[in-house]
Amino acid sequence: MSETYDVIVIGSGPGGYVAAIRAAQLGLRTACVEKRETLGGTCLNIGCIPSKALLFSSERFEEARHGLAVHGVRVASVELDLAAMMAQKDKVVAANTSGVAFLFRKNKVDWIKGEARIAAPGAVDVTLNAGGTQSLTTRHIVIATGSEVTPLAGVAIDEQRIVSSTGALALGEVPKRLLVIGGGYIGLELGSVWRRLGAEVTVVEFLDRILPGMDGEISRQTQRLLQKQGISFRLGMKVTSAVAGDAGVSVSIEPSAGGPVESVTFDTVLVAVGRRAFTDRLGLEALGVTRDERGRVATDGHFATNVPGIYAIGDAIAGPMLAHKAEDEGVAVAEILAGQAGHVNYEAIPGVVYTWPEVASVGRTEEQLKEAGIAYKTGKFPFTANGRARAMAATDGMVKILADASTDRVLGAHILGANAGDLIAEIVLGMEFSAAAEDIARTSHAHPTLSEAVKEAALAVAGRAIHI
Ligand SMILES: Cc1cc2nc3c(=O)[nH]c(=O)nc-3n(C[C@H](O)[C@H](O)[C@H](O)COP(=O)(O)OP(=O)(O)OC[C@H]3O[C@@H](n4cnc5c(N)ncnc54)[C@H](O)[C@@H]3O)c2cc1C
Repeated sequence: MSETYDVIVIGSGPGGYVAAIRAAQLGLRTACVEKRETLGGTCLNIGCIPSKALLFSSERFEEARHGLAVHGVRVASVELDLAAMMAQKDKVVAANTSGVAFLFRKNKVDWIKGEARIAAPGAVDVTLNAGGTQSLTTRHIVIATGSEVTPLAGVAIDEQRIVSSTGALALGEVPKRLLVIGGGYIGLELGSVWRRLGAEVTVVEFLDRILPGMDGEISRQTQRLLQKQGISFRLGMKVTSAVAGDAGVSVSIEPSAGGPVESVTFDTVLVAVGRRAFTDRLGLEALGVTRDERGRVATDGHFATNVPGIYAIGDAIAGPMLAHKAEDEGVAVAEILAGQAGHVNYEAIPGVVYTWPEVASVGRTEEQLKEAGIAYKTGKFPFTANGRARAMAATDGMVKILADASTDRVLGAHILGANAGDLIAEIVLGMEFSAAAEDIARTSHAHPTLSEAVKEAALAVAGRAIHI
């Protein structure tokens, strides 16, 4: 049986499902091929959503044990019910994935359940999950196949004792000693979950800092706070092998630059060294679709590959591997296919690490501005001087705004603190409108809120913060 569409989207992650819904909204006959049994891709099934569910739940556990006495709330005994916490996470995931299925029905997007292969421009063959194959024809194809865990040589993932993020979201018991390989956001978030639930957590990072790519000052402060919470860091070190045996997982660790090898035993090892584009099984080589040295589909400014009629978005192409970046690209590509002017502003895509406190960032870091030789002014405001943060007993961290030295235009902002992921939104919006720091400084912010720290940092850019 062959069906004809205007658009076939391959993959139903935040890039793919959003592209499919937007294309259907614009009147294009749209199908989305997804091989997983549920929609939503990495993000909803094994990424953003389950990790945030566990982060939220484990934060409540930590708060009940250590964070309430300061507010005069005494809790006699606090127990962990890990099975219930996992069930809550699964419920959240199911609500989200079935929500996408509902949106597909509502917008009349056909969900083809199976693995897609591009036979030719305009032709997609699907190996159906239910058995058999289906050939589809279409005017446009959008590749939104996302990413997969980057493996680490010498460390074979079994998802039991040596796990990727997927296994770390579903451990059946709290490991006594957890090794996290990689000090990026996934390692720090999942390390935080299991530390709160009782594990002794060690993070080994190849580089001499955590959160590479984030502002250096913020990254150092974040490390200090996580250390205070009990996470140990081994920076400038690399894991060369991990072998699961009766006594645990025996791990070899050595300095990144080479040197003496240590052997240390852990109960569980989490490999979180990054993710790589998942583009191997689409038949791209035979079609002549160009990929870069990291396997990402090469696209122009309009998400078009070098083969007419084939487009790509999300983790499968260059740029930050973030759900909202994939979503924005999904909207943009659908609008382009419908003849509109879809566009993504890569200068204003926030990044958030959902540890406690959160770390949020948008635009340039100080390091990047220095490297680019751009003269800038800095405005900082610590949460210790914010009334609401004091009331919340959440005074760790600060807001830091970087603005152009001559025009005052905001070039970047970095927030470490409670609700940083929400606070960054106003600066992202400001940057979309080319705001000057003074625009933020002169905007009324409700009192008492954490957002006043953003205003004060904007005032501090001009050396006129009021409350410090
Ligand atoms: C633990 C973890 C936590 C994360 N937390 C965050 C966060 O808090 N915020 C954030 O912004 N990002 C987060 N991310 C990253 C985010 O999940 C990704 O950036 C996002 O999912 C990318 O979306 P996508 O649509 O490009 O691809 P994906 O979400 O990876 O979806 C691709 C889909 O394509 C399907 N597929 C692949 N090939 C085929 C084929 N040939 N045929 C049919 N289907 C196919 C796959 O099954 C998959 O469902 C997290 C990731 C992980 C792993």
